Amino acid sequence: MLETVQALYFLCNHTIRLQRDTARAKEGDGTLMLTDMQIVIMGGDARQLEIIRKLTELDAKLYLAGFEQLEQPFSGAVKEKLHDLNFSHIDAIILPVPGTSLEGEVETIFSSEKIILTEKILQQTPSHCTVYSGISNKYLDNIIKKSNRKLVNLFERDDVAIYNSIPTVEGTIMMAIQNTDITIHQSSIAVLGLGRVGMTVARIFSLLGAKVKVGARKSEHIARITEMGLQPFYLNDLRNEVKDIDICINTVPYPIVDAAVIAQMPPHTLIIDLASKPGGTDFRYAEKRGIKALLAPGLPGIVAPKTAGQILANVLSQLLEEELENRKGKEKR
Ligand code: NAP
Repeated sequence: MLETVQALYFLCNHTIRLQRDTARAKEGDGTLMLTDMQIVIMGGDARQLEIIRKLTELDAKLYLAGFEQLEQPFSGAVKEKLHDLNFSHIDAIILPVPGTSLEGEVETIFSSEKIILTEKILQQTPSHCTVYSGISNKYLDNIIKKSNRKLVNLFERDDVAIYNSIPTVEGTIMMAIQNTDITIHQSSIAVLGLGRVGMTVARIFSLLGAKVKVGARKSEHIARITEMGLQPFYLNDLRNEVKDIDICINTVPYPIVDAAVIAQMPPHTLIIDLASKPGGTDFRYAEKRGIKALLAPGLPGIVAPKTAGQILANVLSQLLEEELENRKGKEKR
């Protein structure tokens, strides 16, 4: 028995060492560098600074549009007005997490310049130019389609969504503490949805000692909730399940916390709606009933911009490296 454990221990350590050495070797021979890449970072918030830091470290040539008020210098990154940029050599455009507005505007906290991504700009780029965004909308999908460029929505990736659920739940804990006069420990919490965010929320609140029930619509989710040692319920029974709760945390991007559900909640219930705008809660009715309901978008960027930025930076550098390798491979053929 002891020998088996020792053998497993040796094998694990050996595998970890091997992976680490392979990664180092890869860095050492330069294949992880982005030396020939020209990238525009278009607007954003503090998360973008981590992306800039990582990509400049990897030797990419960066053009920063919408950053003129940023005091921090980054060697290898040049601040430019959008209309002064020459897009004909740009390999990639990196948008902030929300992408663009429905009018094409790109949010930036480092500039008063109005940054608008247009079809015309995309058409000036080389045909291999890829646009990276957190999420997309009709406007962005439309200009991407018309200009025949590629769009990567980082938040559609499971790895990004799962890593991002960690700062999201930390922000949710902060909101629960700030907006209740009871401890999370021993409080009754209903988590709606067992997706990438819902699972992390349910697990962490339970680890803090809350009595957590989780609502889902699929039987495999009900099974998973049971396996996690939490109390499962079907979402079509939501009205009955909210009668004894202190906090309702919604992750379902669909209007499920409607007036009929809110009407069944105890008056002190706090609703934290994490689902993307406009959330899944009837906020008008909650206010009318005197129930505190908070829509809480973008928590990672608020509570942990550095970590949230690093999550994006790591995935982006991997994707850009793959893109560069593919392109170099094609050029050689
Ligand atoms: P996800 O993995 O797709 O999970 C969504 C969950 O909602 C799943 O359990 C899904 O169940 C359920 N669902 C979807 N439509 C439903 C409907 N009509 N009726 C019942 N259940 C439904 O998404 P996620 O990554 O967990 O993200 C959840 C939401 O949080 C998204 O809106 C995301 O944009 C947002 N988010 C917010 C923050 C923040 O800071 N507030 C951070 C990250 C993400 P099925 O599997 O049965 O479809």
